[in-house]
Amino acid sequence: MNHPPADNFETLAIRSQGERSAFQEHSASIYATSSFLFEDAEQARRRFADEEDGPIYSRFANPNTDELATKLALLEGTEAGIATASGMAAVFGSLAGLLKAGDHVIASRALFGSTHQILTQILPRWDIACTYVDGTQPDTWDAAVTDRSRMFILETPTNPGLDLVDLEQAAAFSRSHDLILNVDNCFATPYLQNPAPFGADLVTHSGTKFIDGQGRVLGGAILGRADLIDSIRFFARHSGPSLSPFNAWILSKSLETLAVRMEAHCDRALALARFLESASAVEWVKYPHLPSHPQHELALRQMRRGGALVSFELKGGLDQGGRFLDALKMVSLTANLGDTRTIATHPASTTHAKLTEEERRAAGITPGLVRISAGLETESDILADIAQAIGGG
Ligand SMILES: *Cc1c(COP(=O)(O)O)cnc(C)c1O
Repeated sequence: MNHPPADNFETLAIRSQGERSAFQEHSASIYATSSFLFEDAEQARRRFADEEDGPIYSRFANPNTDELATKLALLEGTEAGIATASGMAAVFGSLAGLLKAGDHVIASRALFGSTHQILTQILPRWDIACTYVDGTQPDTWDAAVTDRSRMFILETPTNPGLDLVDLEQAAAFSRSHDLILNVDNCFATPYLQNPAPFGADLVTHSGTKFIDGQGRVLGGAILGRADLIDSIRFFARHSGPSLSPFNAWILSKSLETLAVRMEAHCDRALALARFLESASAVEWVKYPHLPSHPQHELALRQMRRGGALVSFELKGGLDQGGRFLDALKMVSLTANLGDTRTIATHPASTTHAKLTEEERRAAGITPGLVRISAGLETESDILADIAQAIGGG
């Protein structure tokens, strides 16, 4: 990996590149191969014995997945990283690669739906228990600690409530109870927020969202402390959540434009949040960099900008929300987020439908909540479609 002469985000994202081949290609090439040749029996022995660096088999590592993981670790300010086939492979790897039977996890309640399923349906099969806490109430966290607690896992901003968890407080809490702090940084991306300098031990990403940013591929990554990543690498090497070289190449190339794309996403999201705040049909709007956000000060401290997601509820709740979604002409109705296309989602009936009504309430998901992922279309076109859908309701 060639490290550029400067440590600024855009330069690192563009100029950190794996070794070039004999062709001296300017842009990275794709290593679509499942295995790699050894020069002789002795080199094969050395590679398998970890006495010599170098590729063996693409389930273990590949130049494209290595480039992506190394670049993301640089952008997050962590010691090491590993690329995975999806964001959920990253979240699962960060848990299954480190925890054992009898361990206990403390989790901020507002988590991605599949993370919630892993913590409440899958890990308990292996006698790994979980206690939920309110991520916005740090003074309540101590009560969840047991002598088996090993990890604190959280997302900030939360999905889809857009509440924040104070990363500095989460790190202090984790340090004082000897917990591994594991932060899903998917919503913010490494451009808007870096949990590791605040004290996070692990950072996970779904590359599927803003890192790809164009709705093409699945991918993920786990970044963090070298000793933890070593354990997770052992787990991943033998259990196989490997990212394909092609998807790794897409994601690594996409990182080159992440900064400019996120600036443009944030411009549109902020304009939309301000518009919704001024619209009389809207009950409430949540956007981290609006002064009306209850944790606005914290948002300014830990997020470079407010992100691409805006959550709101129309007056008239669920019924009015449904009419709004059906009235949209350009904005896409889909469960994804982090695309060039602006997307509207109704979490209570889709992404969070498997939660009970009570679990949704606790996670801040009201029945009529609509989540918008601001895309990159012309700002006035996004606002016009949303305005006509509100007005036409
Ligand atoms: C989408 C998402 C994931 C899962 O990512 P996949 O690539 O779909 O597996 C995890 N966490 C958050 C916050 C997400 O938005």
